[in-house]
Amino acid sequence: MFLINENFLKLPGSYLFAEIARRVKAYQAEHPEADLIKLGIGDVTKPLVPAVISAMHAAVEEMGHAETFRGYGPDYGYDFLVNAIIQNDYAALGIDIAYDEVFISDGAKCDVGHIQELFSADAVIAVTDPVYPVYVDSNAMAGRAGDYVNGQWSRLCYLPCKAENGFVPDLPREKVDVLYLCYPNNPTGTVLDRASLQRIVDWARRNHVLIIYDAAYKAYITTENIPHSIYEIEGAREVAIECNSFSKTAGFTGTRCAFTVVPHALKGFTRDGRAVELNALWKRRMSTMFNGVSYPVQRGAAAIYTEEGRSQVQGVIDEYMENARIIREGLTAAGFSVYGGKDAPYIWMKVPQGMDSWAFFDFLLSRAHVIGTPGSGFGPSGEGYFRLTAFNTREKTQEAVARLKTMSLD
Ligand SMILES: *Cc1c(COP(=O)(O)O)cnc(C)c1O
Repeated sequence: MFLINENFLKLPGSYLFAEIARRVKAYQAEHPEADLIKLGIGDVTKPLVPAVISAMHAAVEEMGHAETFRGYGPDYGYDFLVNAIIQNDYAALGIDIAYDEVFISDGAKCDVGHIQELFSADAVIAVTDPVYPVYVDSNAMAGRAGDYVNGQWSRLCYLPCKAENGFVPDLPREKVDVLYLCYPNNPTGTVLDRASLQRIVDWARRNHVLIIYDAAYKAYITTENIPHSIYEIEGAREVAIECNSFSKTAGFTGTRCAFTVVPHALKGFTRDGRAVELNALWKRRMSTMFNGVSYPVQRGAAAIYTEEGRSQVQGVIDEYMENARIIREGLTAAGFSVYGGKDAPYIWMKVPQGMDSWAFFDFLLSRAHVIGTPGSGFGPSGEGYFRLTAFNTREKTQEAVARLKTMSLD
């Protein structure tokens, strides 16, 4: 008899966005005239910049001629892209990353999801809470999360991030093996300063904890002196894997390109105490189960590191961040407690007293015709919060904020 991986059956349904869609549909059916504005969009909306498009056109043309055609690419990415990453994402910050420490992939979601294949089956996992669900669900599928009871996984260590602790996680008291961090954070839009990140790295070194650092939103950082890479922190290369993506940086959510850095200095241990480089394991994993990102896409990604590519991409990010500013300042003026939105395209707000996240969702939908995302959908500590995103158009964003400002809370 064929037995399945029953861990899949423990996963709760993808309740959040399905439930949002259900409530929106029901509201629309009753109020067909309502002009709804979506500030729940977790995806970029602006087109690829011209520098990327022309690089991709040229690469497609190369693929059409025998002399320039390319078949399978190098396992870990083309040198033109790997070198551009090393120069611009790391050397420019004073960080020395070796050529074979960079792995090009088709997405940070895939990388943060697959990275757990390197962990022992019984590794104890810690996540900040609220959290990007991929870290949790990928470990749940592998059987590391225990059982899902009352909205929590029994074997997972949750590190609450709330207004009370400034959205900086307290270090776990219990023994954990792996900690997932995402900064700038999805969903809270908050960042860690250098000292907070150093404290976590020091703790990880002392306790031999592996950090998976998701830097997908680093391009949105505007505050000075906020780390863009965990490797800016002393000692981090001994404990951290860093995942990056062109998705939010350059609008590649539908084009697909990302990269992960696994330093040689980072070692895990066998049960009998032998140190093993995670870099070697990830190389083996990638060459066995992945065959590279298409050549035109890697050419497109490399184009964001050219002078014109860089300024075009920055222009797009500036436009999103202007939306974020409009939301943040508008809500603050309206008396809400608002977090994030300075270094990330996400604004995390406290819902008014007496409501929970879902009650506020319904309230906003009916009073302002604005759709956001209930914080409770991202984990237990998201309850009482609500996420708005900066990815809609300027006009819709302004209109939504105007409605939120004039809406009565009674
Ligand atoms: C959007 C996002 C990513 C990017 O994923 P891709 O697969 O590269 O598109 C990674 N991490 C977080 C937290 C995200 O929100």
